[in-house]
This record gives sequence, structure tokens and C-alpha cells, in this order.
Amino acid sequence: MAITPNENNFFADVCKNFDEAARFTSHPEGLLNQIKACNSVYRFQFPVRRGNGLEVVDAWRVEHSHHMSPTKGGIRYSEMVNEDEVMALAALMTYKCAIVNVPFGGAKGGVKINTKQYSVAELETITRRYTVELIKKNFIGPGIDVPAPDYGSGEREMSWIADTYMTMNPGQLDALGCVTGKPIALHGIRGRKEATGRGVAYAVRECMGVGEDMKRIGLTPGLDGKRVIVQGLGNVGYHSAKFLTEFGATLVGICEFEGAIYDANGLNVDEVFAHRKNTGSIADFPGAKTFKNSMEGLEQDCDILVPAALENQITVHNVQNIKAKVIAEGANGPTSPEAGAIFTERGGMIIPDMYCNAGGVTVSYFEWLKNLSHVAFGRMENRYAANSNANLINTLENLTGKTILPEHRMMIVKGASELELVNSGLEDTMIHSYHEIRETMVHTPEIKTLRTAAFVNSIDKIAVSYMTLGVWP
Ligand code: GLU
Repeated sequence: MAITPNENNFFADVCKNFDEAARFTSHPEGLLNQIKACNSVYRFQFPVRRGNGLEVVDAWRVEHSHHMSPTKGGIRYSEMVNEDEVMALAALMTYKCAIVNVPFGGAKGGVKINTKQYSVAELETITRRYTVELIKKNFIGPGIDVPAPDYGSGEREMSWIADTYMTMNPGQLDALGCVTGKPIALHGIRGRKEATGRGVAYAVRECMGVGEDMKRIGLTPGLDGKRVIVQGLGNVGYHSAKFLTEFGATLVGICEFEGAIYDANGLNVDEVFAHRKNTGSIADFPGAKTFKNSMEGLEQDCDILVPAALENQITVHNVQNIKAKVIAEGANGPTSPEAGAIFTERGGMIIPDMYCNAGGVTVSYFEWLKNLSHVAFGRMENRYAANSNANLINTLENLTGKTILPEHRMMIVKGASELELVNSGLEDTMIHSYHEIRETMVHTPEIKTLRTAAFVNSIDKIAVSYMTLGVWP
């Protein structure tokens, strides 16, 4: 995989997309500039003991917009992370939250390390020290700024952050809401881990469901049998592939660092995952064609391409070779603005990152709510619902003299579990937001892409927040 985040252009690219959309709004320039700017950029360094010496780690936390509190966004652990990238990702978080009506400002963190070169104990020291640095500057807290997992971090890191924060803030009632993406045992929420990928699948399903749009790009409506290539077998890529196939699509290709595989007859993502675990690579997966150059994998025949790895993967250098009709951006910023324009010009459709991968932060919001309310969703009403449903069925059976099958009774009677509530909240959010974006596009024919429409909606919502806050006259 070409891991070449465009060193200093990512934030500029996000601003470019913003400016394109701002033309379709009627907000004063000053307000638009305020929305666009990164409010707080905290760059810091701290030492970690390694072997007999010390090593200096570069780190960032960027809070892009405070039009709502707390700010929210993951922490990226990567050797490639840089200030421009964290600023861009923080900005995207702002727009993303607005798109899915999650009441947060955007933020992002970065720790510049190659996680593979550190022991678990060293990673724990780094994470705890990073958290302490955030605490010192008031850059973390349930009502201030709430980190989450991102590329290179996961539940383990989130539990170290939560523990450090709680240690430094003894007795703070809502302390657990200082970070999301925690393990269930530490009051995380069911469904968070798979939420981004599940959200991607809902987004694609929704997009493919609109007959007239599909006709325009030369596809039949519906996800059934559509051929999908996924780039990245991490959390987002794996779950996108899993749910897309569950919803009826056929996974034909997977691209990873070490290469790509393609099988027109379909791949089982779990089998590929197991093969990679056993052999250390997706290469030579039985029955599939292997490409040594991972980027070649993106260019194979398919209907839908899901870049779910890093930014800047589809550029002017390869966009002409992309065969997919739909690009669903599981990652943040995988398509450069220039490549996006060429792809759209050619009749393709891009489901933009700020909407497509918003499932993660949506369920993070549910986790935060759970932490603030100190009770799991469904705990109070689950049995009540089951009892009243059972009473209803019993009454109907008595009145009609008929009985329903035990499996049907079970399905109707039971109350909703936390996971079911989370998934239905996520599904509803993704469906509602898709049509909100599409409506904007339909109503303003000059708006040619879902990305511009998403930005327009986002800018409008943020502008309203500024106005109602009295920050803007
Ligand atoms: N890092 C994820 C994202 O880019 C999740 C952010 C969150 O849950 O706060 O959307």
C-alpha cells in the first residue's frame, strides 16, 4: 500500500472541499473562516525510557472547533503522523459530527511512533504520559475533549487513557466519559468496535438503494451481488467487508500493505483474515490472484471500492485506472480533491468520508451518553417491555384461541438489548443523514457531488450553532 500521506496538503485539501461547498451557502466570510480554522493546536514532546536511554516522542492534539463541547476524535499512532494531518483529521471530525447530528466539535490526536517497534509496556507508558500531558493543558475531559481509537490505537489504549484520567481526577463522577472506544468491562458500549464498518455498509446500502442514482452511473439498484474491493484489513476494512457481504454484496478483492488479492468468485473475509494470521500475509490466498503491488488491487474490476486505510490513496496518478463506479470512503481523505473531480466527471459516485465513516463517532456518542447516565441502554426497560409484550400476546391468544410458535413468541416478546439499540440508532442515523445529504444535492443542481452537499449541510448546521451561541451576531 502506498503509505504516502500528502505531507503538507491534507488540511489544505479539506479546506478546498470546504470552500467549494461554501459557495452554495450565504454565510458571511468571517463566519466561514471561523468555522474552517483550527481553534487549538497543541504540539508537545515527552521522553520515554528505552533500554538504557531516553527517546523523545512527538505528539499532537488538535481541537478544530468549539462550537459544541466536548470536542471529539480519535488518536492516531503512526510513524507518519504530522501536524498537517492531525489538523485535517480534526477538521473532518467537526464536519462529520455535524453531518450525523452528533453534538460535538471536532478534534484529533497524534502520537508519532511505529507501534510495532515498542513493547506493550512501552506503549502503555507512552499512552499514559500522553494522557497526562493532555490533562496538564486541559485538553481532555468528558465535557472538554474526548479521544477515541483511530489508526494504530484501540480498546487497550483507551482503557489506559481512562485509567490515567480517573487516577488524576479522583471522585469525578463522569470521569469515564473522558474517552470512548473502551472495552465493555470498562463501561465501553456493545457494537462500538464494529460501528465504523457497519456504518460504511449502511451508507453503501443506502446509496445503492436509490434507483435513479444507480441508473445514472450504470448500475442496477440494490447491493445484491455487487462486487466490492476493500483496501485495508484493519478494524474499518474488516467490518466493512463483513457487513457488506452480509447485506448481499460479493467481496472480490482485498488490498493490504504486503499486496492485494482478487477472486471474481468471491472471498470470505474471515478466511482471508485467518490466512493472514497464519502466514503473515494475505498473499497466495487459495483460489485468489495475488498482486505484489498492493495499489494494483484497487484497479481491478468491481462495482464498489472501499478505501479503508489511509488518506491520499486515490490520486491523479491512479484514478484513471479505477474501475469501480462507487467509492465509499471508509478512511478519512482517501481521495484527493483532483482525483475526486476526475472520478465524478467520469460518472462515478463518491460516498464522502465525513458521512461514510461517521458510524464510529456516532456510537462513540452513545458510549459517552451511557457513561454520563451511568446505566447501560435497555437496563431499565428491557424486562418491562418483555412483560408487557408477553401480556399482549397472551391476551391475543386468549381472544383468538390460537397460539403462536414459541420461536415467534420469543422474537416478539423480548426487550431490546444494548447491542440492538446501538445498531438501530446507528442504522437510523446513517439512513437519515444519507437522505439529508442527497436532498441538498437534488435541490441544488449546481451541486455535483455528495461531498459538496455534505459540506453544505455541515457548514449550515455549524453556522447555526455559532449564531445560537451568540458567538456570531
Ligand atoms: N477515529 C474515529 C473517526 O475518525 C472515531 C472518532 C470517535 O469515535 O471519536 O471517526
